[in-house]
Amino acid sequence: MGRVNEMSDLGSYSSESDVLGYLDGRRDELVQLLSALIAIPTPNPPGDNYKPFCDFVANWLAEAQLEVEVLAPPREALPDLLRPEAEGQRYAVVGRLRGLAEHPAFCLQGHYDTVPASGDWEIDPYGPQVVDGKLYGLGSTDMKGGLASMMMAAKALAQKKGALRGSLHFLTTPDEEFPSRAGLAYFLEKGIVDPDYAVVGEPSGVRNIHVGMKGGVWGDVIVKGRAAHGSRPFAGVNAFEKMVEVASAVRTDLIPRLDQRVSDYDFYPPQANRPTLALGGLVGGTNASRATVPDRCTVSFDRRLIPEETLAEVEEELVSFFDDLQRQDDELSLEVKVSSKAPPMVVPADAEICRVVSDAITELAGASPTHTVSCGGFETVLFVDRGVQAVTYGPGVEGCAHAAGEHTILDDLVVTAKVYALTALRLLT
Ligand SMILES: [Zn+2]
Repeated sequence: MGRVNEMSDLGSYSSESDVLGYLDGRRDELVQLLSALIAIPTPNPPGDNYKPFCDFVANWLAEAQLEVEVLAPPREALPDLLRPEAEGQRYAVVGRLRGLAEHPAFCLQGHYDTVPASGDWEIDPYGPQVVDGKLYGLGSTDMKGGLASMMMAAKALAQKKGALRGSLHFLTTPDEEFPSRAGLAYFLEKGIVDPDYAVVGEPSGVRNIHVGMKGGVWGDVIVKGRAAHGSRPFAGVNAFEKMVEVASAVRTDLIPRLDQRVSDYDFYPPQANRPTLALGGLVGGTNASRATVPDRCTVSFDRRLIPEETLAEVEEELVSFFDDLQRQDDELSLEVKVSSKAPPMVVPADAEICRVVSDAITELAGASPTHTVSCGGFETVLFVDRGVQAVTYGPGVEGCAHAAGEHTILDDLVVTAKVYALTALRLLT
């Protein structure tokens, strides 16, 4: 544990254990901090209380001796960044601990918006309560717990600061849960931070790192028929009935093919270890009247890719599957429209960020971590797209995010804060 001492010309961290001991002694402060973050409701939509939340975080970081800025896009840029129905300004907070040089730079990042409260909460979702070593409240897992651990890690480093070789950034941004272009993407594009490494504190579990995520292709299948009066179905081609046949073919022919393709990576959850296709999130038709044979039926699809697949292969597979169906049925006319796509992403196990975070977890959480690809997406990909080595690692209880009774485990908050701090020390000294 003598890495820092060996570089005594760079500063006065007496040791890594000094920083870790500082965090061990501040468990109550960490719990209070998380409680305070939850008590400022930031549900999105609509994006309430963004300013008071960011002011609180900024003041806390400033008291902890970090350089702090609260930033927001210019008002005139908002109409292009936000959905038409969204209102209000979008703020981010960046806290900096500057070292001898700007680089290497390490960024701890997380979103501060939560989903709106839903379900049957037994407590006030914004009135956090501690019971049996767990803290209950909306956003405790997703992901104000991660933010609180990151803020405490930054404070520990600031308080115990000699001089870092590189710089530490803490960045919290809005609009992840109901995304807009005024969230992390905007602040990265504007160069608010320009790190070499990043950890996104979304809940991964304290002994697990999400090293990647599945990709996706999203779009619509549109079946065209021929309209007729509902009293004369024989005179038309019913687009809805044709769509039923299409959906059935997807179910019996395409999905079993995808099920055969088992990925070599480990996944969270484990059954996500193959490509998936979900049909029908959005369904539309002619909507003329009940007495109509519909001439149009639209069904959305959500195709998720394992890391072994490419976007081009998957699009080609979809198009040729639907082309084949069309060839087999003279009355079937359909079109596939891809509306958005994202490639799968995996950070190699030998990347420095993976090694340093893994070693820290092994030392502090009592077991070497699993490395998983998550089936859902995280903003981590925005860092990776910019050439930043980034992984997703944060406290929280899998499966309870976005639900009544969301909670997090207090011991895990402390362990995670220590992992963040040790990672920063080892990347920056
Ligand atoms: Zn989240």
